[in-house]
Amino acid sequence: MAQDDVLDDVLVVTGGGRGIGAATALLAAGRGYRVAVNYRSDRTSAEAVVDRIRAAGGTALAVRADVSHTAGVAELFDTVDRELGVLTALVNNAGTLEKQCRLDELDEDRLNRIWAANITGPFLCAAAAVRRMSTRYGGRGGAIVNVGSAASRLGSPNEYVDYAASKGALDSMTTGLSLEVAAEGIRVNAVRPGLIHTGIHALGGEPGRVDRVGPNLPMGRGGQPEEIAEAILYLLSPAASYITGAFLDAAGGR
Ligand code: NAP
Repeated sequence: MAQDDVLDDVLVVTGGGRGIGAATALLAAGRGYRVAVNYRSDRTSAEAVVDRIRAAGGTALAVRADVSHTAGVAELFDTVDRELGVLTALVNNAGTLEKQCRLDELDEDRLNRIWAANITGPFLCAAAAVRRMSTRYGGRGGAIVNVGSAASRLGSPNEYVDYAASKGALDSMTTGLSLEVAAEGIRVNAVRPGLIHTGIHALGGEPGRVDRVGPNLPMGRGGQPEEIAEAILYLLSPAASYITGAFLDAAGGR
């Protein structure tokens, strides 16, 4: 399988400029992947990740695209085809949340924004990846990892039930797509992080959330983005060659 040859692997990391995505891009590049670092708005961070990869002798490209729209996804994957070569790996990492509140305070616009970023985006990117990787379309296979969340199990009451539900949808997609393409050379798995030290918590209005909750977690701390990147890279790698449709909870026992 071509997947065995990491030196030949081309990876797209959506939302790769910051947090878990940035850690994943850096670790993957260190393991020989040519990496597309997708970003939506924070160009400076994405360029910094690319600079670090290139300085270490790797190959990377920052690609601006809002992955919740068809045009953005087409632009992203066409650029990768042109600049990096045949796609073999996708990490559906881009995601967002909004200010903590109760479900009865949510409005339609917010729900549509959350569904667009956390559900439509991964669906559109997975579709673009399958059209390139699947043996059904003449591809040579590949691997997809969806970055879900422990929230899909916990429901995030009084914080963001909308976010939790969007990650529930991503869990269903992981299962369904993994079965659709299992015989077409593509593995589809999910990593479900717990509380990780990234900037996403500021969007919820509580930048210090991990420090507040961390001591009460089974392992007594929040996680680091690099710890999630390790789980993602494992599922992408040939070491996970017989694993598809799996959920790897990287949540410190949460
Ligand atoms: P983060 O630091 O806020 O990074 C999120 C990234 O997603 C940013 O790079 C952002 O791009 C990108 N993004 C958001 N919407 C996008 C869109 N429509 N198109 C393209 N890029 C988009 O958050 P993070 O914590 O690393 O989160 C990464 C993933 O892990 C998310 O799916 C999140 O739900 C999941 N997760 C995080 C935690 C946690 O505790 N941190 C726990 C469980 C799951 P820009 O920088 O350009 O805006």
